[in-house]
Amino acid sequence: MKDTTVVIIGAGLTGLLIAYRLKQKGIACTILEARDKLGGRIQTHYSDNAPPLEMGATWLGKKHTQLNKLLEELSINTFIQELGENAIYEPMSISPAQLVQLPPNSDPSYRIVGGTSTLINKLAEALGEDEIHLSKIVKSINVVSDGLKISGDGFSIKAKQVISTLPPNLFINTINVTPSIPLNLQQIASQTHTWMGESIKVALSYATPFWRAEQMSGTIFSNVGPIPEMYDHSNYEDEKYALKGFLNGSYFSLDKEERLKMILVQLQKYFGDNAKDYLSYEETVWRAEPFTFKDYYDHVLPHQNNGHAAYHQTFLNDKLIIGGAETAKEFSGYMEGAVRSANYILENLISC
Ligand SMILES: Cc1cc2nc3c(=O)[nH]c(=O)nc-3n(C[C@H](O)[C@H](O)[C@H](O)COP(=O)(O)OP(=O)(O)OC[C@H]3O[C@@H](n4cnc5c(N)ncnc54)[C@H](O)[C@@H]3O)c2cc1C
Repeated sequence: MKDTTVVIIGAGLTGLLIAYRLKQKGIACTILEARDKLGGRIQTHYSDNAPPLEMGATWLGKKHTQLNKLLEELSINTFIQELGENAIYEPMSISPAQLVQLPPNSDPSYRIVGGTSTLINKLAEALGEDEIHLSKIVKSINVVSDGLKISGDGFSIKAKQVISTLPPNLFINTINVTPSIPLNLQQIASQTHTWMGESIKVALSYATPFWRAEQMSGTIFSNVGPIPEMYDHSNYEDEKYALKGFLNGSYFSLDKEERLKMILVQLQKYFGDNAKDYLSYEETVWRAEPFTFKDYYDHVLPHQNNGHAAYHQTFLNDKLIIGGAETAKEFSGYMEGAVRSANYILENLISC
């Protein structure tokens, strides 16, 4: 690995977008990614018998202006998340599920045609093999005479500036920085919530969208669970069908079989035996992903310290930048936040 001008830690949306722009400007950069794949919290699962299944980021809205601008620039299309006219609503365990009419949706959510990973792949396509290095777990950053040295097991690289795009709580607890970054930043970072870090995503694909029949719906809201929310997740072409939702995060300690069993019991309540005839089941327990989630020392609220002003400056004499979706001033935690973080860093913090 050659020494470079800018090292970016993490090949999620923030890291890839920064690298994409730096390449356009002719600035040399290298991405170090811990996983053996790109995307971070954007993970679309592709298989023959299912639509693209989003195990991470899925929806965007018209208000996500910088993300929409990027999609347009990359010629990536979106389509409306269909909710249908009705939803299955289960208010409490002692009363049966009911079909409720949904109000007209004036601010719909959109999905990316071909899956959210299309965005990741388009950005990565523009980068060369020399620029993205997978399976490189960064463990330390040290100030050296002419920049920073970034190291992990079996590798090290020098750069003039380093940009971390890890969720701040993960960065502060897994990468050793010498000399230490200010104590107040350490405290803020360790109490910065990682959006969706505790979530469990589940998806089942089916041969037919039986939930679209009269008096039924693929939109589910349940206070009983274990799935509190579920939606029709069929592909844009509407030729491969799936239901996708969140599983109550407290079921992370069960195994996959146990979770599937509970999910099928819930779905059978609404759809009868059709629910059992799934073609594939996919799940991602995000709190078990060591390159996304790290438990907090104290209780942390959703979005706590997201967008904190501490992240909008540089550290170690301009050499270290802490970016990523959670650091964005607006829409922090979301894809829009990742794009805004990348744009802010490119416009204000990179000095190379
Ligand atoms: C289940 C789920 C659902 C979501 N739904 C939505 C949604 O519908 N809409 C929306 O807008 N957003 C959603 N999000 C949030 C969205 O995914 C994130 O905002 C966005 O992907 C964050 O991008 P990022 O690049 O800032 O961070 P990340 O994607 O977290 O990227 C950080 C990268 O750093 C890597 N890394 C970690 N440690 C190291 C290390 N030591 N060395 C090297 N690399 C390392 C990671 O592997 C990762 O690739 C969802 C997230 C999840 C998990």
